[in-house]
Amino acid sequence: MKFYTIPAGPFEVNTYIVFNDETKEGFLIDPGGEEKKIEKIIRDENIDLKFILNTHCHIDHVSMDNYFKGKYSIDIIAAKEEEQILKNLEEQAEYLGFEYTGDVVIDRYLKDGEVIELGDIKILSVFTPGHSPGSVSFLVNDKHLFSGDTLFRNTIGRTDILGGSSEQIISSIKNKLMTLKDDVKVYPGHGEATTVGYERKFNPYLI
Ligand SMILES: [Zn+2]
Repeated sequence: MKFYTIPAGPFEVNTYIVFNDETKEGFLIDPGGEEKKIEKIIRDENIDLKFILNTHCHIDHVSMDNYFKGKYSIDIIAAKEEEQILKNLEEQAEYLGFEYTGDVVIDRYLKDGEVIELGDIKILSVFTPGHSPGSVSFLVNDKHLFSGDTLFRNTIGRTDILGGSSEQIISSIKNKLMTLKDDVKVYPGHGEATTVGYERKFNPYLI
């Protein structure tokens, strides 16, 4: 497995391009801008893009979903619970200064605990509600956790907007993420990468 991190858009959402280095099959997580840069990587690495995964559907994480869906004819995959967030995408776009590219439609709903396989890449969907009702973290090959806006380095996702719940996010992190091994790398929706062990020890919201 190989991947790139591309901070994109006004809120510097981390868009990830993850792919199998041999078969070249890959996917995007939370495409939020920098489409030219992303397309260059896809071309240079000869990536065969299969789908888009959304950790959740706040505008900064889905603003380029429709663009990539159209360009590569691929499905958008997210939790059904995020449909309530997508209902007011246009307001979110206007309020936060994003270009509105039309409604985002989830083509395939994730289930908690399901595994999506792409060659030797195994993506486990771990439902971690709290930041939003259908926030999901993706554990790839038991070693790499794409945590969306649930867990960040030294902090956690905000819960004061659009259906967030502070009790839920703490419970999700403690019961579903902190049960992972210390050496699992964490790649959040914004900011730098960290590890489960580091957050277990130092994250002020978890100690
Ligand atoms: Zn968010």
